[in-house]
Amino acid sequence: MAQVQRMSRLMIKTLRDDPADAETLNHKLLVRAGYVRRTAAGIWTWLPLGKKVLENITRVVREEMDAIGGQEVLLPALLPKESYDASGRYDEYGDLLFRLKDRKGAEYLLGPTHEEIFTQVVKDQITSYKDLPVILYQIQTKYRDEARPRAGVLRGREFQMKDSYSFDTTDEGLIEAYQLHRAAYIRIFERLGLDHRIVSAVSGAMGGSASEEFLAPAPAGEDTFVDCPACDYAANTEAVTFKATPADGSAHGPVEELDTPDTPTIETLATHLGVPASATLKNLLVKVDGEIVAVGVPGDREVDLGKLGEHLAPAVVELVTAEDFEGRPDLVRGYVGPQGLEKVRYIADPRIAPGTAWITGANKPGTHAKNVVCGRDFEVDDYLDVVVVEAGDPCPRCGTGLKLDRAIEIGHIFQLGRKFADAFQLDVLGQNGKPVRVTMGSYGIGVSRAVAALAEQTADAQGLCWPREIAPADVHLVAAGKALQTELALDVAEKLGAAGVRVLVDDRAGVSPGVKFTDAELIGVPKILVAGRRSAEGVLELKDRRTGEREELTVDEAIARLV
Ligand code: ATP
Ligand code: MG
Ligand code: MG
Ligand code: MG
Repeated sequence: MAQVQRMSRLMIKTLRDDPADAETLNHKLLVRAGYVRRTAAGIWTWLPLGKKVLENITRVVREEMDAIGGQEVLLPALLPKESYDASGRYDEYGDLLFRLKDRKGAEYLLGPTHEEIFTQVVKDQITSYKDLPVILYQIQTKYRDEARPRAGVLRGREFQMKDSYSFDTTDEGLIEAYQLHRAAYIRIFERLGLDHRIVSAVSGAMGGSASEEFLAPAPAGEDTFVDCPACDYAANTEAVTFKATPADGSAHGPVEELDTPDTPTIETLATHLGVPASATLKNLLVKVDGEIVAVGVPGDREVDLGKLGEHLAPAVVELVTAEDFEGRPDLVRGYVGPQGLEKVRYIADPRIAPGTAWITGANKPGTHAKNVVCGRDFEVDDYLDVVVVEAGDPCPRCGTGLKLDRAIEIGHIFQLGRKFADAFQLDVLGQNGKPVRVTMGSYGIGVSRAVAALAEQTADAQGLCWPREIAPADVHLVAAGKALQTELALDVAEKLGAAGVRVLVDDRAGVSPGVKFTDAELIGVPKILVAGRRSAEGVLELKDRRTGEREELTVDEAIARLV
């Protein structure tokens, strides 16, 4: 017996208009169709239909993780600071971390990802190589104080992630666990009906060596990736490494330094520029105590002085306007956060002979084997050598012109190696009786983000349009008429439920068929069954939500079709 959900008893309020603050399709539709409700910036309530979709995704993820031998655990989200001090990430994470204190003043954080705690669990539980390899996973709420929590559940400050961790004694073991995850992720995203690409990625705050991302192409995505039409090369533009000649080889002109006798603040800076202290600016670099803290570039990122002021006041601010950015949107895309350089996509290495430059993504391991840090590895001036990859640039593998697209990062797999094992001295007793350092992998899927990604990829002008396995019901049964149709619809719903079909039945009294149809399209259950005019004769209309195809069927035929 599958669930029969009556709309008359469902807590749902659909909206005709998009929420005022919504920019992306998934945000608009998930709110309008009554799946989620905003509680605060980047913090979401999952309403009954939304919770069902989230559960369906969770189920698929769980099944595939179990299939590769993953053992599910549940770690706390409230974590002691000491663990993250041991790895250095308490500081490394900077503003992204939610930090808090208990009544005694002891310091905690809300977990953004759990490498540290899993390492400690394994150190405590496993002592011999005989108990390895092991894959542990959890599906849990994560917390990250994202700078721009936008796009609905796509980028939450509280969100659901499946994170897993592999522990092995050998490098071959790690590669095997990594491949198991890679294959499981492919199955997961196929079952979810998410169009996706696997691309080379940078490891960022995780550290470690190899890493790949699973990207779901969608205009709302915040990542850009290149894809070679001729070979299997695909990479996040953050991780592209290829040979290029800067668009124009000219050296940049002198930078204008803000010349004030005393230490300038955001206010003096704004006054100097002749703009309000809340202005949003392009064409500038802002340095605090010699460190770049913000970069504004035409056509891309802008510096919001107001936000910067909130963040920095009363810090010392030094402004450098970079005129050379003027009219050079191709130079781009940098942002320097509290932890140094973030999100700079291409940096020409100044050590390469003039005329040609090896362009490499920030934090791209392998190329120069280092993390790129402004001030240490390159100077402000070098910034102007930054070149962005463009569609048509030659594929580094085969030279064919690359395609460039936007996408949503839905999963990320890392070969961490021994970074965390070193931090916690995670050793097990080896075959020869000597301790062996454990090697690790970590693997994430954005479970709540997958809801948004699916919405982005599958919605149409009428509303959401879920694949069956993920939809909140298998069929949306509309009672389009008076009491008679409602009675009949409820009867059909019971029969369908008994046959194992999940039914959402619109039995609301006093709601017009037109409104019910509009809601059904908006909610996006893959099949819509209508008990209308001919239902008294035992004839129903079955409509395919995606194709719009309709057919008239008897009750038994409809049931046979939907099972
Ligand atoms: P992004 O680049 O989008 O900020 P990330 O690289 O920081 O993501 P990871 O640390 O790789 O994220 O985390 C694993 C997965 O968790 C990501 O691939 C993504 O699907 C999901 N995820 C990360 N941040 C968020 C968020 N703020 N809201 C929802 N899902 C998220
Ligand atoms: Mg992130
Ligand atoms: Mg990322
Ligand atoms: Mg990632």
